Amino acid sequence: MIKDGLALVKAAQHCWEGGLMPGTSGNLSMRTPRGLLITPSGVQYPELTPSDLVELEPGGRPLRAFSPVPSSEWRFHEQIYERRPEVNAIVHTHSRYATTISCLRRPIPAVHYMIAAAGVSQVRCADYATYGTAELGQNALKALDGAKACLLANHGLIALGRTLKEATKVAFEIENVAALYWHALQAGQPVLLDDAEIQRVVAKLETYGQP
Ligand code: 13P
Ligand code: ZN
Repeated sequence: MIKDGLALVKAAQHCWEGGLMPGTSGNLSMRTPRGLLITPSGVQYPELTPSDLVELEPGGRPLRAFSPVPSSEWRFHEQIYERRPEVNAIVHTHSRYATTISCLRRPIPAVHYMIAAAGVSQVRCADYATYGTAELGQNALKALDGAKACLLANHGLIALGRTLKEATKVAFEIENVAALYWHALQAGQPVLLDDAEIQRVVAKLETYGQP
């Protein structure tokens, strides 16, 4: 658990330094044997320490007495772990370009092959619901069907992973594809890759990099 806590703090600070989570926006979690470990609500990322993290049992009760207030989005984290057994980490951001596209309530299409990091050729946008509500989680689960990422209308991005490293990578990659989409739209009509090509890349990415 100490190791998990350190990894979660490091990942949160990495996302914040990378500009994915302006102010105290966004939150991260990991699945644990007893429930989930999540970032606290409204804490400045540079000041975050492992003791600020909150472990929640199913239903949202903190396992430790006098623990900090957990992220206001603990519900959608829990809903996703419940419905997606292969997911062990979640990163939620308000990153600029993904959020811009979410304000247009459009999906991110296959303008670049790295959309395949989300396992799909289109990152869907979930219907709007107020932050922190179970309705937001239900809308997100629908948009996440078969995917490792979705947009939240007028709000931000959710990225999933089998590991914390993967969820973080998906968050950075999809933010970059959203930025490319935005920039391409300023100059014209981007040419999109087809589903078959994205499926080829999804398979190829399984063995990308060092073994
Ligand atoms: P928390 O600080 O409560 O995690 O909320 C940030 C956020 O992104 C809400 O959607
Ligand atoms: Zn948010």
